[in-house]
Amino acid sequence: MSRVLIVGAGLTGSLCACLLQRELQSKVHIVVWDKARGSGGRMSTSRPPDPSSHTADLGAQYISATPAYAKSHHSWYSELLSAGLLQPLSARIEGLRHSDDSQNYVTPLGMCSLVKHYLSESGAELFFGRHVTGLYRRGASWEVQKKAGGSETFDAVILTMPVPQILQLEGDVTQYIAGLGPSLVVHTSVPFGLKHLERDKEEVQPIILEELYKLLPDLPQPTSIKCQKWRYSQVQTSVADCPGHMTVLDGPLLVCSGDAFSHSNFDGCVESALSVLGVLKASL
Ligand SMILES: Cc1cc2nc3c(=O)[nH]c(=O)nc-3n(C[C@H](O)[C@H](O)[C@H](O)COP(=O)(O)OP(=O)(O)OC[C@H]3O[C@@H](n4cnc5c(N)ncnc54)[C@H](O)[C@@H]3O)c2cc1C
Repeated sequence: MSRVLIVGAGLTGSLCACLLQRELQSKVHIVVWDKARGSGGRMSTSRPPDPSSHTADLGAQYISATPAYAKSHHSWYSELLSAGLLQPLSARIEGLRHSDDSQNYVTPLGMCSLVKHYLSESGAELFFGRHVTGLYRRGASWEVQKKAGGSETFDAVILTMPVPQILQLEGDVTQYIAGLGPSLVVHTSVPFGLKHLERDKEEVQPIILEELYKLLPDLPQPTSIKCQKWRYSQVQTSVADCPGHMTVLDGPLLVCSGDAFSHSNFDGCVESALSVLGVLKASL
C-alpha cells in the first residue's frame, strides 16, 4: 500500500483525499497535513468568542455553478445539497459578477463545512499544526520535513497550497519546477490589498473601519473584530499549459495541484482534484 501525503486541508486537499479514498481505497494510505490549527484554508469559517453568535466565512462566500459545471459536476452538487451543506441562494445580490444563468449556492454551516465533509468522507489521517518546510528526494520516496523538526517519508506527495508557498519549500522541489447579532464581512479591493500587503493588520484595520463607518455611519459597534489578511488570495492567471495539476516528477511521484492550475472557485478545485486522481491512477 502506498503512503500518500496531501499537504493542505483546504478544498483541493480534502477533495483529493476523498477521491483517493473512493477510487483507490485498497491501494493508498492517505495522510493529510496542514500548518493551520484547523481545516478550510481559503474556505475557513471563523467562530466568534461568544458561541451563540453567528459564524463568518473569511474567504469564499458563495459558490456559483455555471450551466456547464452544473452539468459536469452534477454529482458533486447533488451530494452537498442532499447533505444539507449547500442551499440555493434565493436573494438577489447587487453587483454579483456571474452571469444570470449561473446557479448560486450558500453554505448554511459555513464554507468550511464543505471541506470538513470531504475530509470526513476520506477517512484520512489528519494532522494540524504540521508545517511542511522541505521536500527531499530519497530514492523512490519523498522525505518531508516539518517546521517543528523531524521528517517523515512518503511514496507520493500532493501539494495543494498556493504556488507562492510551494515555491518557498526547501529541498528538491524547485529543482524540478521551474453573535446574537449578524456577522459582517468587509472585503477590500484588490488594489487596496496590494497597496497594504506588507503592513501589519493592526495598522490596516483602522483604515478599513474608517471607510466602513463612512459607508454605514449607523453601524453598531461590533462585539468582536477579526482582521484577516490573505497574502495569497485568488488566482489571476493560472499556471500555463498545466490544466488541473503539474507532475513535477514521475518517480517518486510529486504533483502540484490546486486552483493555481485551474481557477479560483469550487469547480476549479474539483477539476484539479480529478486530474490528480488521473495521475495517481496511472502511477500507483
Ligand atoms: C477572500 C476570498 C474570497 C473568495 N471568494 C470565493 C467565492 O465566493 N466562491 C468561490 O468558489 N471561491 C472563492 N474564493 C476562492 C476559494 O476560496 C479557493 O479557490 C479555494 O478555497 C482554494 O482551495 P485550495 O485547497 O486549493 O487552497 P487553500 O484553501 O489555500 O488550501 C491550502 C492549505 O495548505 C495549507 N498550507 C500552506 N502551506 C503549507 C505548508 N507549508 N505546510 C502545511 N500546510 C500548508 C494552508 O494552511 C491551507 O489550509 C475566494 C478566496 C478568497 C481568499
